[in-house]
Amino acid sequence: MLSALYEVSRLLLENPSVQDLGEKFVLLVAKLLPAPCVTLYLRDAESDAFTVAASAGEPIRLADDQQASTEGDFADWVAQRGEPVFIASTSAEPGLIRSASKRIFASLMGIPLSVRGKVEAVLAVAHPKPGYFDHHHLEMLTAVAGQFQQVLEVSRLTRSVGLLALTDGLTGLFNRRYLELRLDEEVRRSHRYGKCFSLLLADVDHFKRINDTWGHATGDLVLQEVARRLLENLREIELVFRYGGEEFLVILPETPLQQAAHVAQRLRLAVEQHPFRTVNGSKLFRVTLSVGVAEFPTHGADKLSLLASADRALYVAKEQGRNRVEVLPPAA
Ligand code: GH3
Ligand code: MG
Ligand code: MG
Repeated sequence: MLSALYEVSRLLLENPSVQDLGEKFVLLVAKLLPAPCVTLYLRDAESDAFTVAASAGEPIRLADDQQASTEGDFADWVAQRGEPVFIASTSAEPGLIRSASKRIFASLMGIPLSVRGKVEAVLAVAHPKPGYFDHHHLEMLTAVAGQFQQVLEVSRLTRSVGLLALTDGLTGLFNRRYLELRLDEEVRRSHRYGKCFSLLLADVDHFKRINDTWGHATGDLVLQEVARRLLENLREIELVFRYGGEEFLVILPETPLQQAAHVAQRLRLAVEQHPFRTVNGSKLFRVTLSVGVAEFPTHGADKLSLLASADRALYVAKEQGRNRVEVLPPAA
């Protein structure tokens, strides 16, 4: 399952348009579960109605006829409920689904995907055998839907504010503006599903000295190189943001504290061992990172207190001599 999830996240990054991506995404979900019918509905920007964006197998619907006006009826229903829907056997819900559809879509699940609190997409899967899906299937579907949700979020925000407004010009990483939104979403999701996640706050040690010694242009180059080392040593679902001048923040979804501390060590080593160069290439020098780690909900059950905890851990790392990872005690 892990490698399949990895495949999904790679797909997501390689496909710039949500529409193109949707086509491949439904085929992958169909293979992953497996299920013969997987439908992705997207909310149309103009009409505000759900339409089938992509489907593997017969597009899932509740009504018998195939009129365009009914194609998003299941999505409407899931969106109204606002939470994952699991129907072991649709014949037990005569009010929901018409007789002909019941036979093809006998076992049914649907996940609403929200951006800023509004359901913008629904991922649905169906199987002709009643009782086919179990909780393992629902968990898998929720996990892949969560990854698609991130792409959808960037795509929807890009439509309203532009991609440049979400990214940092120097490093190309996501910026603090997008971090604020993503972190709200991560807190909401983890809270709802009772899952943890961790934050890493990394700060370049004595960065001012690098600027003073080698010049501002080399300082800029160092930030770009550090960003690249971080990206290279993280998985696609682990997001990295430029948090401030020489500070980077990483979100590790569904990752407990100790595992997050290992990731932090890996990142710290990747930077420590990298030979950095001045802009003209003439001089080699070393750069190190200090990293603070905090876990949701142990160190903070909301965005601000969690960020404050990561910042406290970072402060301890600096105090303890820099080029190190610090984790707060569980009760802190
Ligand atoms: P510490 O180990 O305690 O973190 O020390 P430091 O020198 O890294 O921290 P300090 O906060 O004193 O200095 C950070 C410096 O980063 C100050 C600021 O001028 C510089 N800086 C911030 N943004 C940029 C940038 O985009 N490019 C360059 N070249 N420098 C930047
Ligand atoms: Mg700093
Ligand atoms: Mg610093």
